[in-house]
Amino acid sequence: MKYFSTNHTVPEVSLMEAVIKGLAADNGLFMPMQIEEIDPKFFERLYLKSFQEISFEVAKKFFGEDIPEKILKDIVYDTLNFDCPLVQVTDSIYSLELFHGPTMAFKDVGGRFMARMLGYFLRGFEKEVNVLVATSGDTGSAVANGFFQVPGIKVYVLYPKGLVSDIQEKQFTTLGNNITALEVDGTFDDCQRLVKSAFLDKELNKAMVLTSANSINVARFLPQAFYYFNAYARLQEAGITGDVVFSVPSGNFGNLTAGLFAKFMGLPVKRFIAANNDNDIVYNYLQTGEYQPRASVATIANAMDVGDPSNFARILELYGHSHKSISGDMVGYRYSDKEIRETMKQVFVDENYMLDPHGAIGYRALKENLKPGEVGVFLETAHPAKFTETVESVLGKGTVILPEKLAEFMKGEKLSIEISTEFADFKQFLLAQ
Ligand SMILES: *Cc1c(COP(=O)(O)O)cnc(C)c1O
Repeated sequence: MKYFSTNHTVPEVSLMEAVIKGLAADNGLFMPMQIEEIDPKFFERLYLKSFQEISFEVAKKFFGEDIPEKILKDIVYDTLNFDCPLVQVTDSIYSLELFHGPTMAFKDVGGRFMARMLGYFLRGFEKEVNVLVATSGDTGSAVANGFFQVPGIKVYVLYPKGLVSDIQEKQFTTLGNNITALEVDGTFDDCQRLVKSAFLDKELNKAMVLTSANSINVARFLPQAFYYFNAYARLQEAGITGDVVFSVPSGNFGNLTAGLFAKFMGLPVKRFIAANNDNDIVYNYLQTGEYQPRASVATIANAMDVGDPSNFARILELYGHSHKSISGDMVGYRYSDKEIRETMKQVFVDENYMLDPHGAIGYRALKENLKPGEVGVFLETAHPAKFTETVESVLGKGTVILPEKLAEFMKGEKLSIEISTEFADFKQFLLAQ
């Protein structure tokens, strides 16, 4: 399969090139030339298949031409070796819990998948490949855990000192091995600037192979389609009928766009709900047809604080830039911090279900949008313990129990190296490795 750029000014590339480069040379996002439809028969008895089996079938449609079946199967089974259960919250509303992976957030799925696929494409590569990633918290942990112990690849995670939560910091600073955490005496923007400067530095690029582990990489993005198929199978398995509506708490819109891919492949979905926090750029687009990116604002659902969602370019491409077609498949909702808190509290008290701030947005949008005869599934994108402070500020001290997996990280020793915001220091450090 060839991949084209959403900016349409550079030639198509192979999967290998798209995965290694991440972003197209004209700064567009890569899109597959075709989205293959799945035989409708596949859906009839989907409930007989496990999450891994379903994902492998879908993965073959995307990657089957480019990766030997045995290796692809190995990547899928290694990446998705955890549950992705559907839990009923109230009458027709179900939570698709995507947080049973190593760092307890959905980004584990794509992070590990991309790491394994990159590892495959770089096999036999003589030089070591260095992945640079700037993080404000969650991306760093998913990438670090995804690439942990992948041969031939070294990862450098740059994060702002004192500006990530304890649990986030522990998730990428305690691994060691091929993962190096760099604690930057500055902000997230400084971290991003250092990484960008490194990619542009001629001397550095001559001395070592550098690559990014960007969230818009096709190897990270496409696997997010898998769990929509799984949700459908699990509804079937439980004998739940009705038109399916997915509600997706969205920031950079990778998850929602992957859901649209699933629909294009034939998954029977009635509509998607794009659920925003106060960063309501797509909400406004759906209302008015005008896309107006702006600086992000901080909210309690901070993994969704995005002012110019990258994957929106993919949505426009899928629908030929037609606002009418996009609005046909998608409706928008938006909630303030106050509304998020209200929802977390109400669902905890009335339904005995603990939502994280992101999932709360997805749940509430379904509550307000679902019509009789429909079944709603929202993506619960992170375990509430990843946001313990916020959750306990709403539900009360001591309500959140730290799961074993996260407790293990807390026990580890922080191994980060402090660096300044000067590019010269960072460059020196890399050259000395
Ligand atoms: C990244 C993230 C999101 C946003 O997902 P997108 O696919 O970027 O829209 C939502 N919730 C959590 C917990 C996240 O980490």
